[in-house]
Amino acid sequence: MESTRDKKRAAAVLAAGGLVAVPTETVYGLAADATNESAVQRVFEVKGRPAGHPLIVHVCGLSMLSSCVADVPEDARRLAEAFWPGPLTLVLRRSALVPDVVTGGLSTVGVRQPDHVLTLEVIRLLGRPIAAPSANRFGRVSPTSALDVEESLTGDVDLVLDGGPCRIGIESTIVDLTGTTPALLRPGAVSPDEIGEVLGKTPHVDSGPPRAPGMLAAHYAPTARVLAVEREEAGDAVGSLVGGDTRVAVMCETDVDALEADIRLDAGSDETTYAGRLYSLLREADRCGVDVVVAVLPRPRGLGGAVRDRLQRASSTP
Ligand code: AMP
Ligand code: MG
Repeated sequence: MESTRDKKRAAAVLAAGGLVAVPTETVYGLAADATNESAVQRVFEVKGRPAGHPLIVHVCGLSMLSSCVADVPEDARRLAEAFWPGPLTLVLRRSALVPDVVTGGLSTVGVRQPDHVLTLEVIRLLGRPIAAPSANRFGRVSPTSALDVEESLTGDVDLVLDGGPCRIGIESTIVDLTGTTPALLRPGAVSPDEIGEVLGKTPHVDSGPPRAPGMLAAHYAPTARVLAVEREEAGDAVGSLVGGDTRVAVMCETDVDALEADIRLDAGSDETTYAGRLYSLLREADRCGVDVVVAVLPRPRGLGGAVRDRLQRASSTP
């Protein structure tokens, strides 16, 4: 698998029906030309992702958004203007340009404009949207660097576009605008309150059956068992695990008192840093052969809410 910064080559590989891992500000995506059914089919095969789990379509600009959807409602236009390029995916009614394989047969499509110069230029050169889920095997930890992609998907991707480490490190916020009121399907860097400020109404948290793999109870999991705990529970959780044959790591913010784990994974001193380091720390735990990661949850402010969501889904005891 080859790594490059050559945008023209990446666009040419996509135009020929190939797969390219692309950088975004959230996580690396495994991209195919969204209008090429067999290329998109290969994304599912490489990820081991069950059919019927829709992919996010990535566009550059509002006219490309218009081509993917039946119409652009006023709320969508406002959100796109406020947050794009950026970590907000809008679920809208799809157009005929988007094949069934991308949406898992749904009549809706998730669309966003990612905030990364390399990938935006690749989409512009291709002249068509790209469909891209996170560039990892289904259910596992998302990649936040080109090296992570190479480790996750060895040999199965035609090209990796290396755009450096991901700025945010956690998947986009997903908001569904096809119902009577906006619904939050997945928390991310754009908060419900920020969306509320733009729309004059705050999206409600969708509590129906999972409509996205990112909403499944088990997702984002490393090989090690993850135990998500609140700060006050951390001492007891670590204490009950260490001492035996189990290799225990504790992942926590810098100000959490030294806990007697075998390995300490430092999540930094604020929620934004925690989000940025989350997936690379979980990968490090696996590299160190850890059996259990006691993940001390951040406070639910800023990006803390999205980190808590991912850790609770990665946790074997949610
Ligand atoms: P991944 O990149 O693997 O995190 O997947 C992208 C996320 O977007 C998944 O959770 C998808 O199910 C979700 N998504 C994409 N399109 C739709 C849609 N039409 N309705 C609901 N969720 C969607
Ligand atoms: Mg994913």
